[in-house]
Amino acid sequence: MKTPEISVEFFPPKNSAGEERLRESMAALAALHPAYASVTYGAGGSTQERTLATVRLIQGQNGYEAVPHLTCIGSTEAGIRELLQRYRDWGVRRIVALRGDLPEGMENPGFFRHASDLVAFIRDFGGFEIFASAYPEVHPQAQHARADLDYLVAKTEAGVDALITQYFYNPDAYLQLRDQLERRGVTVPILIGVMPIHNFEQIARFSAQCGAEIPRYLRLLLEAYADEPEAQREVAAEVVARQCNLLLREGAPGLHFYTLNQAEATLAIAQRLDI
Ligand code: FAD
Repeated sequence: MKTPEISVEFFPPKNSAGEERLRESMAALAALHPAYASVTYGAGGSTQERTLATVRLIQGQNGYEAVPHLTCIGSTEAGIRELLQRYRDWGVRRIVALRGDLPEGMENPGFFRHASDLVAFIRDFGGFEIFASAYPEVHPQAQHARADLDYLVAKTEAGVDALITQYFYNPDAYLQLRDQLERRGVTVPILIGVMPIHNFEQIARFSAQCGAEIPRYLRLLLEAYADEPEAQREVAAEVVARQCNLLLREGAPGLHFYTLNQAEATLAIAQRLDI
């Protein structure tokens, strides 16, 4: 098995306590030698200043390379160009290009309708490697699964260098998407988005919103440990690590951990990887 690339994702902290927690998590996760740390960006640009500050905080710390996420819905061409110029001036080499979701109360989606529009724009701008999203269990707003695949292929052809998946707890869904993309001639790496389960109730809520299915056996298993959070985390780490190992044996090129700025649950999985 080839050594997979490990990467981590952080969100911009809201206050100094959050910043301290992020610094501690970064220090602990540096042990995994992540290839890069991506930084989320709020819908409609709502965290723009904090995302920029977090990119600055991360870049070069503990050997980290910062990779900003950029959502385009509700943005202007000029605004995106200015941000890209800023990132280029700072030496940022890679961007995660996303559509995002129009925040409540914002009516006009603006110039960019789909992530593929942003991918093409960044490609024209030049100078960045481009990551984009993929949904093994189908994007929750997709017309249907075939349309979702068609749009994913078109997005990739617009200039994507690697895909990062939404998280999932059904490894077959990843393999199905990988095979379908391969048949359509898509050869870019498809990195596995891994959501560690530190707080099951929180993950169950997220999953209902973003269309990630929690299989019945996993829900029942974790609910059985509802009164023993430590034991619940151990079981969750075991299950998620087994799924990662299975996919790595299948040749998946990398794992991208949605850390939620918290190192422990990611490390619990990493310790169980066969690498
Ligand atoms: P797209 O790839 O544009 O797809 C969105 C939907 O539009 C899909 O249903 C697709 O089938 C459809 N579609 C695509 N192209 C077309 C077309 N040409 N015509 C008609 N329909 C089309 N959100 C944030 O706010 N901030 C973040 O930092 C963030 N980071 C993320 C990182 C990853 C790895 C992932 C997987 C998701 C992230 N998200 C983030 C969530 C993401 O913004 C939402 O899932 C959003 O709803 C879709 O964005 P997208 O880039 O996947 O959209």
